[in-house]
Amino acid sequence: MNIEAKELSKIYGSGENRVTALNNAGLKIASNDFISIMGPSGSGKSTLLHLLSGLDRPTSGSLTYDGKDIYGLTDKELSAFRRQRIGFIFQQFNLLPVLTARENILMPLLLDKKQPEEAYLAQLADLLGIRERLTHLPHELSGGQQQRVAIARALIAKPDIIFADEPTGNLDSKSGGEVMEMLQNIWKNMKKSLVVITHDNRIAKMANRRFLIVDGVLSEVTAG
Ligand code: ADP
Ligand code: MG
Repeated sequence: MNIEAKELSKIYGSGENRVTALNNAGLKIASNDFISIMGPSGSGKSTLLHLLSGLDRPTSGSLTYDGKDIYGLTDKELSAFRRQRIGFIFQQFNLLPVLTARENILMPLLLDKKQPEEAYLAQLADLLGIRERLTHLPHELSGGQQQRVAIARALIAKPDIIFADEPTGNLDSKSGGEVMEMLQNIWKNMKKSLVVITHDNRIAKMANRRFLIVDGVLSEVTAG
């Protein structure tokens, strides 16, 4: 899938409270790209990721997925498009506390009234090392396990692209490393595009394209 963002800007507030969170960002994402985005706190990283994934709409600019104008969709159409084509991983995992790991993973399918594919769920659970944890509630899991459940949820509908906003930001170095290794394997073996915001240079080095964002201005810094 080819994704193209053109001149994306996001302005919050007005008058004295006006903040240009993102300033004319342009970006093309090709199938199987692994992109890392680094930048100081408050520089617009989450804003950019929310716009690229259709979680939010820009003040101005355009976004196409294989030529399809994403912001031209209604909110309902956009939600459905996101559930079916896009996976999103949050720093805080965002699992529903009253649902088991299995129920959390299957939630995107339930919302689309789709039958779970048990074999694929089992494959994901094995890949992510959570097979024995599927009947547990989130609070019975470690942070690393919760994030691996969230990754399975992001993959269950077989999206073309995964966005991750500081996926290891809430984890200790060891479980963060494990989570990133799994994301890297998923990228390699499942042929997904991957866009990761991170403060961790080790992760940025795994990417084939590196970007920096400062004061809402995005630039590519890939070496070579
Ligand atoms: P980062 O993820 O790089 O830390 P964000 O994209 O979250 O940065 O925020 C970029 C800027 O936009 C910051 O100055 C932040 O305070 C501001 N901002 C983000 N979301 C909102 C919002 N909903 N309302 C007002 N300002 C916001
Ligand atoms: Mg952020």
